Amino acid sequence: MSEVPAIRLTGLTKDFGSVTAVDHVDLEIAEGEFFSMLGPSGSGKTTVLRLIAGFARPTSGTVELFGEDVTNAAPFDRDVNTVFQDYALFPHMNVLDNVGYGLRVRGMKRAARHERAMRALAAVRLDHLAARKPAELSGGQRQRVALARATVLEPKALLLDEPLGALDLKLRQQMQVELKQLQRQLGITFIFVTHDQEEALTLSDRIAVFNDGRIEQLGTPRELYERPASRFVADFVGTSNLFSAEHARALLGREGEYSVRPEKLTLSREPATASGTRSAVGTVVESIYLGSGIRRVIDLDAGPRISVLERNERSGAAQGHGERVHVSWHDEDVVALMPPGT
Ligand code: ADP
Ligand code: MG
Repeated sequence: MSEVPAIRLTGLTKDFGSVTAVDHVDLEIAEGEFFSMLGPSGSGKTTVLRLIAGFARPTSGTVELFGEDVTNAAPFDRDVNTVFQDYALFPHMNVLDNVGYGLRVRGMKRAARHERAMRALAAVRLDHLAARKPAELSGGQRQRVALARATVLEPKALLLDEPLGALDLKLRQQMQVELKQLQRQLGITFIFVTHDQEEALTLSDRIAVFNDGRIEQLGTPRELYERPASRFVADFVGTSNLFSAEHARALLGREGEYSVRPEKLTLSREPATASGTRSAVGTVVESIYLGSGIRRVIDLDAGPRISVLERNERSGAAQGHGERVHVSWHDEDVVALMPPGT
């Protein structure tokens, strides 16, 4: 990280009456980082973004942008721009004028404005549709206009609040790639809000997982996925098998709560014997065909119901419903979880 972070939040808190939407958040985001805030609906992500943009004032705590305290600065005095989920394009203006609007407000002359707007449109590959009205565009194209409109002002950081939420899956995946490319091309900080864990894992340099107004865990996608610190993160980021203290004692021979990812488990007819591995006996209750893989649901005799993800290989030894199997794992794939509230 460079010395002065792009964004530094210190003790940031926002109350709405008796609801604490954001609860003492401390966070530093580096210049040029693709940073995501991931969490369920109502966990405070939008409120944090609005506090950074200046659309709301914190109850306590501070917001610094590039080393400057902007906690009480107006939105237009902050070197950031926001892309909202609903785009909010002006329906009566064509694409070029929509993108150039912010420059016009700043008093830029028409020719210069058009040139800058065309450049921003070219960056999202929409320069050929500059004369169209928003109603004449597809959802993905409207989203790209909204991106061009936010980047034309050349902010040092772009705030994106679930910008792909309104798009269908295929288009969303395509736009994810474009967003990543745009960020690399512009070289500016992106702060991306989403409730979609897969989207956050795909795009981000680092992710803050929000729960109830607090950051539950902060890390790279790999760290969050491989080493979830809490039951909440293990459950929210990907699929996890959770072992309660009682089950951990019986099956893992360890104290505390643990989690194991479905793809780290293997099934066999015999117990595992390799050093550093353990196994448990159970009964197959469900096999779900996923195309690229098969998910088996297994009731362990001495443990919980667990999920095992097998790759769809030409194995032949398919375990059917009601069959008895050995579930095996490597000790190093067992992740210790912090008790709740620590
Ligand atoms: P997210 O974006 O993660 O879904 P929000 O930041 O929108 O979460 O909301 C966090 C909490 O704050 C929720 O309980 C929400 O109901 C509450 N909240 C957000 N904005 C307001 C507001 N203007 N007035 C009252 N409560 C609000
Ligand atoms: Mg939100």
